[in-house]
Amino acid sequence: MSDMEQLRKELDDVNLELLELINRRAKLVQGIGQIKNKQSIKRFDPVRERDMLNQIAAHNDGPFENSTVEHIFKEIFKASLELQEDDHRKALLVSRKKKPNDTIIDIKGEKVGDGTTSYVMGPCAVESYEQVAQVAQAVKERGIKLLRGGAFKPRTSPYDFQGLGLEGLQILKRVADEYDLAVISEIVNPAHIEQAIDYVDVIQIGARNMQNFELLKAAGDVNKPVLLKRGLSATISEFINAAEYIISRGNGNIILCERGIRTYEKATRNTLDISAVPILKQETHLPVMVDVTHSTGRRDLLLPTAKAALAIGADGVMAEVHPDPAVALSDSAQQMDIPSFNSFMDELSKYAAIASHS
Ligand code: PEP
Ligand code: MN
Repeated sequence: MSDMEQLRKELDDVNLELLELINRRAKLVQGIGQIKNKQSIKRFDPVRERDMLNQIAAHNDGPFENSTVEHIFKEIFKASLELQEDDHRKALLVSRKKKPNDTIIDIKGEKVGDGTTSYVMGPCAVESYEQVAQVAQAVKERGIKLLRGGAFKPRTSPYDFQGLGLEGLQILKRVADEYDLAVISEIVNPAHIEQAIDYVDVIQIGARNMQNFELLKAAGDVNKPVLLKRGLSATISEFINAAEYIISRGNGNIILCERGIRTYEKATRNTLDISAVPILKQETHLPVMVDVTHSTGRRDLLLPTAKAALAIGADGVMAEVHPDPAVALSDSAQQMDIPSFNSFMDELSKYAAIASHS
């Protein structure tokens, strides 16, 4: 064996020793991570890292400089921290890691997340029996099952129409029973959930309440599907964690709804984060819908964004429909009237047939 070959052979052996050592180290780190988790101690501990680096530098006889050794060890520390965090993250109940199969939610026979497209249509707010009934009839004629309507409206201004409250839920329920539809309506107060479950088939948690943790917990405590909207400035990770609040209490029937996020762009009401759809589909097992009304705030963009939603793999589309949007008490600029809704559905159903991934 030449000198070179001899040295290379030794190098290979050292590599394997190092590998064994860093993995032994990793196992110790995982053990510490589990203890930290139990005691709810923060995983990153800069004081401890500093102590370890000092100890290592004090024992360093070279030829590596202390700064080089520090750099190498810091990389090892970083990888170890990620390992602890991955172990922690693996536990998320909404994750695909936990449950590889798609969650399919049966809402009065409408199967959300089964590979076909679901639609959630209805007015922004419930204003009267007649108003909801007109929309319900149009919705029914298209073979759509999920009727939306806000009874408790979280409005930017306290002086704007706040919704009809319980009376609104009663109207929705009456109309839904008459047309054999399922009701989806927003609840803003944890104390209203118990009462609302008699009237709604799906509890909507709105963008403004995505991190209202008491509301999330209350929705997780009941046996009723939840449509959870992404917060105005929520990251995907925060959105997923909000869903985790619900599932962690026992309710796994959650539909995630991308509804646009706040950016510097003024051309649309919000910026539709279309790539959130495949990310949410990959990372979680939950159905994902896209609300084209609140994300764009523009009637001319409802159809193109709905097509994009279906093309990218969304399980459903939400949009607002009002018999006379010009006089609507909320979101009058962006709701579709009934003829527009019918042309929207004519066009979109062609795409749904192509995009269907059942
Ligand atoms: C709604 O869907 O009625 C609504 C208020 O939407 P968001 O919470 O997404 O703003
Ligand atoms: Mn609205």
